[in-house]
Amino acid sequence: MQAFEYANPNTLQEATGLLGAQWGDAGVLAGGTDLLSLMKENLHTPKRVVNIKNIKELEGIHRSGGGLRIGALVTIDELAKSHEAPRSLVEAAEYIPSPQIRHMGTVGGDLCQRPRCWYYRQGMGLLAMKDGKSLVPGGENRYHAIFGEGPAYFVSASSLGPALVTLGARVKLVSAKGSREVPVASFFVAPADENSRETVLRPDEILTEIIVPNTTMKTATYEVRQKEALDWPLAAASVALTMSGNKVTAAKVVLGHVAPTPHVATAAEEALKGQSVTEATAESAGKAAVEGARPLSQNAYKVTLAKVAVKRALLGAVKA
Ligand SMILES: Cc1cc2nc3c(=O)[nH]c(=O)nc-3n(C[C@H](O)[C@H](O)[C@H](O)COP(=O)(O)OP(=O)(O)OC[C@H]3O[C@@H](n4cnc5c(N)ncnc54)[C@H](O)[C@@H]3O)c2cc1C
Repeated sequence: MQAFEYANPNTLQEATGLLGAQWGDAGVLAGGTDLLSLMKENLHTPKRVVNIKNIKELEGIHRSGGGLRIGALVTIDELAKSHEAPRSLVEAAEYIPSPQIRHMGTVGGDLCQRPRCWYYRQGMGLLAMKDGKSLVPGGENRYHAIFGEGPAYFVSASSLGPALVTLGARVKLVSAKGSREVPVASFFVAPADENSRETVLRPDEILTEIIVPNTTMKTATYEVRQKEALDWPLAAASVALTMSGNKVTAAKVVLGHVAPTPHVATAAEEALKGQSVTEATAESAGKAAVEGARPLSQNAYKVTLAKVAVKRALLGAVKA
C-alpha cells in the first residue's frame, strides 16, 4: 500500500478542510470495508486519509421536520434494526448478510462504495476499455448490467440505493465551500468516459446525511442472491406504492444490481396504476419492469431474477 498521511478530525468543518480538489488528494475513511481494499489494490492511492468516525454530527437517526435524517455514520446494522426507517430500507439493510460488513459498513459508505466489477477491481478501469472498446460485452459478464448500452456495464453496488430512490430520498453533500442536497435518483450516474465516476460526489465533499421524506406509502424490497455470505445480490427490487383502498394510485419500482445506477422501471410503474396488487398484476408488473433489458452474453438469467424480485416485492408491500 502506498504511504499516506492520516488525519483524525473531530468536526465536519475540520474534515472538509482536509479534502482536496482531486481524488488523489484525500480519501474519506468511514468503516473502511471498501476503502482499505481499494487502497491495498492501488485503485485509490490518496495522499491523505481522513477518518470521519469521530465526527458526532454524522451519527444517529433522527426525525425532524418532514422527514427522517439518517447520519452517514449510521451502520448498516443500526439501519436494519431501526423502527423509524421505512420498511423497504430496513429490508434492504437486513439483506446484507455478513455481520462484519453490517457492523463496520456505514450507510454513507454504502452509497459511495465503488463498483465491484472485476475488470475495475483488477485495475482495468471503470469502463474496462481496450482499443476504444469495452472488454465486458465480449468477456466475463455474468454479474454485469442488463440495462443500458454502455460504455458502462458495471452494476451499482449499493443495496440501499434502489429503496432510497423509491422513497424520494435526498443526500446532503458538504464541502469547505458550502453544501448541496441531491436526490438519490440523481446521485448515481452512468459514467460516459474513464475520467467520470458513478456518483456526483466531488473529491472535496463528504456525504453527511440521507433525508427520507415522511411517507405513508406501502414499501418493500426483495433481493435474489447466490449465497447468504460475503456477496452482493444478483438482482433486487424496491417498491413504494401509494394506495387508495386496495388500488394503487401511484407506484415507484426500482431495480438494483442490474444497471450502473438504480434502474427506474417506468413501464412497471405505469402498469400498476389503478390496479390492485395480486399474483397476476404483480407478475405483469415484473414482466413490464424488464422491458428494454439488453442482457450480455452470460447474464440473461438476471432478466428472470429481476422479474421475480419485482413480483415478490410488490406482494410483500401489500401483505403487511
Ligand atoms: C464481502 C462484502 C459483501 C458486501 N455485500 C454488500 C451487499 O450485499 N450490498 C451492499 O449494498 N453492499 C455490500 N457490501 C459493501 C458494503 O456495504 C460497503 O463496503 C460499506 O457499506 C461501505 O461503508 P464503509 O463505511 O465501510 O465505507 P468505507 O470503506 O470507509 O468507504 C467506502 C468509499 O466511500 C467513501 N466514503 C465513505 N463514507 C463517505 C462519506 N460519508 N462521504 C463521502 N465519501 C465517503 C470512501 O472514501 C470510499 O471511497 C459488501 C462489502 C463486502 C466487503
